[in-house]
Amino acid sequence: MSMGSLSDDDMFDNMSDKDISENDSEVDLYDDADGFDIIVSEKDRRKAWEVDFRPHSEADIKKSQDKQIQEICDLLGQNKENSAILLRHFRWDKDRLIEKYMEDSERVNRQAGIIESEEAAPHIRKVTGFMCDICCDDEDVDTYAMLCDHRFCVGCYSQYLTSKIRTEGESQKIQCPGDKCRAAVDERTVRLLVDNSTYDRYITLLNRTYVDGNILLRWCPAPECEYAVECAIGPKQLDHIVPTVVCTCRNRFCFGCGLPDHQPSICRLVKLWIKKCEDDSETANWISAHTKECPKCNSTIEKNGGCNHMTCRKCKNEFCWICMGSWSEHGQNYYNCNRFEEKSGVDARDAQTKSRASLERYLHYYNRFANHEQSAKLDRELYKRTEKKMLQLQTTSDLSWVECQFLSSGVDILCEARQTLKWTYAFAFYLARDNVTELFENNQRDLEMAVEQLSELCEKPIEQADISALKQQILDKTAYVGSRREVLLKDTAAGLQEERWTYIV
Ligand SMILES: [Zn+2]
Ligand SMILES: [Zn+2]
Ligand SMILES: [Zn+2]
Ligand SMILES: [Zn+2]
Ligand SMILES: [Zn+2]
Ligand SMILES: [Zn+2]
Repeated sequence: MSMGSLSDDDMFDNMSDKDISENDSEVDLYDDADGFDIIVSEKDRRKAWEVDFRPHSEADIKKSQDKQIQEICDLLGQNKENSAILLRHFRWDKDRLIEKYMEDSERVNRQAGIIESEEAAPHIRKVTGFMCDICCDDEDVDTYAMLCDHRFCVGCYSQYLTSKIRTEGESQKIQCPGDKCRAAVDERTVRLLVDNSTYDRYITLLNRTYVDGNILLRWCPAPECEYAVECAIGPKQLDHIVPTVVCTCRNRFCFGCGLPDHQPSICRLVKLWIKKCEDDSETANWISAHTKECPKCNSTIEKNGGCNHMTCRKCKNEFCWICMGSWSEHGQNYYNCNRFEEKSGVDARDAQTKSRASLERYLHYYNRFANHEQSAKLDRELYKRTEKKMLQLQTTSDLSWVECQFLSSGVDILCEARQTLKWTYAFAFYLARDNVTELFENNQRDLEMAVEQLSELCEKPIEQADISALKQQILDKTAYVGSRREVLLKDTAAGLQEERWTYIV
């Protein structure tokens, strides 16, 4: 992976503000009608947890290579093909290439597989008395040789290159087919000898190698997507920031590890968490069940929406789907559902008690992690059903299409916030318990409460009579959830920067 030092202007222009500690968003505080502090950030400023990034098409990537190749042409007086071979040999580390080339150009050329010659670039031609060493054909055929003068018939040469490219997926390391010859096959030779689609494949492979070897670039992991994203966050910074990027195809992923967006948990912990969940998948399987029993009357309850505030049809008991505790304990002042209480006073000296306690702790976090993932799915499914109703509304009421978008944007924010919440649990699992953890959990609690309230609103049956009241409630709550999410992400971003937390790993 190491690429040496590529400076910005080598790559693409205008990537600004690499320093993530600068340029924090300005924050204004004012009172909302609900009495909550609403935090509004300036829209066009980058937020504390965001990073600069730029998606690039394959054509862009090719262009940026061409630009660097041209620079080497001008500087070293080599032709384009050789400059490309040299740059690739030095993995695009221009400074090192120039330094070594100045020291001993002959040696550099030899190592890179470049034949020094005064002759003009080779062409396909017929040679009298020629016999091809590969197919032993001595008919009057077209032949080709690079400057190393290993000559073969065009059919064999082309077949050799095509198989290197198509079968072996090789691009920048293809060498002359001559026995023990280390001359590098250049782009011009490939273009002369293979068909168009193989040549395109060759260029794609060159691009791929270029991106894979460049720490400033990463391919978008979405299937079929051919964009790469450029971002200046290196592997060493990943304990201090979560570099979420968005591709042109709208796929949102982590530049650090390539996984789907996992704000606010850092890559290292995400990796550990995923491994842990895989190892313990059987223990945790029962959690993702769609049905549970009412804690009071034991009748079966099915969950068909994202909202975790459950009401038993039979006994009307209101309880929390996650902890199965009474819902009355989930009000503003007592909400404690997100926090794991270590049982005090329990003698945890023997191994069995200890392992049970650690399992219980894991299940607390896993339960909530899995639940938000599942709830987001259910929120979306429920919305799809409601959408039909919304369409009806547009024909029967005065509401326009634009006005009917409040539910759709509410569900979008809801799912985004659940995604964030989900990863706060993976993060919290690895936090040592201290005062700063408590602050994190307070932010988590506030976001979670807001999310459950919005989820409940979005599940309300839509009746034409009170639609405008519901609309206002959903709009307000959507804004509130958005601001709570910002508070949490901003604070975590600051915490990561200042190494606020101790991890238990
Ligand atoms: Zn041949
Ligand atoms: Zn050769
Ligand atoms: Zn993409
Ligand atoms: Zn990551
Ligand atoms: Zn019941
Ligand atoms: Zn609960």
